[in-house]
Amino acid sequence: MNEARDEIFCCDSLKEVVAGLPAPAAPTVYRADNGVLMMVVGLVQTEEGLGYLDQAIMHCPFCGTKLQDAKAIAEKVSH
Ligand SMILES: [Zn+2]
Repeated sequence: MNEARDEIFCCDSLKEVVAGLPAPAAPTVYRADNGVLMMVVGLVQTEEGLGYLDQAIMHCPFCGTKLQDAKAIAEKVSH
C-alpha cells in the first residue's frame, strides 16, 4: 500500500509534509479517498463541527512538478 501512496510524491519535501505531521495536527496536505491530492486552505466552523476548506493541488508547491490536472480530478470527483 505504501508504494501506491508514495508514487504521487514528486520530491521529498512534499512527501515529508504529508507523512511527517504528528497525529493531532490537522493535515494540510493529504490524499483524498478518490486519490486526489488535496491541500487544506482554511477552516470553517459549522454546526456539525470544524470543517475543512480544501483545494486540489495541481502543482507541487515545493518543486513545481505538475501532479494532477483539472480534467483528471473532475473525472475522479464525479463518480
Ligand atoms: Zn515536488
